[in-house]
Amino acid sequence: TEAWGGVAKGKFLNQLAVISTSWSAWEVLEAIQEIEAELGRTREEPWGDRTMDIDILFYGEEFIDTEKLKVPHPFIAERKFVLVPLLELFPDRKHPISGKTFAQMLRESEDKSEIEPYF
Ligand code: AMP
Repeated sequence: TEAWGGVAKGKFLNQLAVISTSWSAWEVLEAIQEIEAELGRTREEPWGDRTMDIDILFYGEEFIDTEKLKVPHPFIAERKFVLVPLLELFPDRKHPISGKTFAQMLRESEDKSEIEPYF
């Protein structure tokens, strides 16, 4: 996808993973931060070019709103690169807070960025 926020110069490769885990959301967050650190993530500015970024979008139906962890991820509705794969995987599911389907959220999204399938 095109870089979101207009800061980064390169394009981004996005991927959505659905995982089954016995870990808490906090443990998952810790694990993804270790992976990010191991892969040598460096970033000069928010939304700028970076090695990689892993976010937790949902954790079941749980709602978490703390400084360190917000679930569902607060920017889902604004980002087409998240909504498109969510819709592909969960065509009938509704966002636990807004109660909207991802199709509905996509139609209402003001994100005009281009999304190309990557093969
Ligand atoms: P990011 O720039 O997306 O890597 O943001 C990293 C920071 O966001 C971390 O310090 C996390 O503690 C915090 N954060 C809050 N909610 C989430 C979430 N749902 N997934 C990942 N990081 C989160």
